[in-house]
Amino acid sequence: MPKKKESKTKRGIKKPKKIKIKPKAKVKVKGKKKGQYRAYLGLGSNVGDREEYIEQACFLLAKTPGVKVIKRSTNYETEAKGTGDQPPFLNAALVVETTLLPHKLLDKIQEIENTLGRERDVEWGPRTIDIDILLYEDQIISDDRLQIPHPLLHERLFALMPLSEIAGDVIHPTLEKTVSQLYEEKKVELGPRYDDELPGFKEIKGGITDDYERW
Ligand code: ADP
Ligand code: MG
Repeated sequence: MPKKKESKTKRGIKKPKKIKIKPKAKVKVKGKKKGQYRAYLGLGSNVGDREEYIEQACFLLAKTPGVKVIKRSTNYETEAKGTGDQPPFLNAALVVETTLLPHKLLDKIQEIENTLGRERDVEWGPRTIDIDILLYEDQIISDDRLQIPHPLLHERLFALMPLSEIAGDVIHPTLEKTVSQLYEEKKVELGPRYDDELPGFKEIKGGITDDYERW
């Protein structure tokens, strides 16, 4: 008996450990295929036909090879924060399943932003479309181009709100809290001004899109 145990352990140790992504990311997600990763995206638009820009961004993401849109949140109308007086934003979140590694996904996202006429003249200024990678599995990345988790995710009610609708149970890998917890905490911190019953932060379109095949 002890002999058997030993050989089993040895076999375990000898297992190849060639992985590009941290081991925790291999945790099985229901229905997810090997080599596919879940990324959580935040979308925002405050120029022109905002709803149409969000629709187009979803459409182009869904058409991107290696990207499958799994869930889409409701659109939320939110007050603009940032430079000067800006029209309100429409914000939404997506869960995507992707074979693209984070930087490659960012490339595709930026291509889509460019296609939809995004100009980068003013930091945090008005934009036809902004697409951010909020989370990517449980990855922690920080380099010149990419920071994941998005460094402002936990500070931005407009990102937490749609994300908690479709991915409330997902754990923020550095804060070690669920998205829903972060959302609730932020709401309390900001007070009743951000109650979603009030104008300036209200839901304007109903329904979670689970089945994305129509795209
Ligand atoms: P913001 O989203 O903060 O308003 P931009 O969309 O103009 O700003 O993005 C500025 C830069 O942020 C991009 O060029 C990109 O390289 C970088 N960036 C860093 N982390 C992320 C992330 N998680 N998602 C999207 N862009 C990111
Ligand atoms: Mg951005």
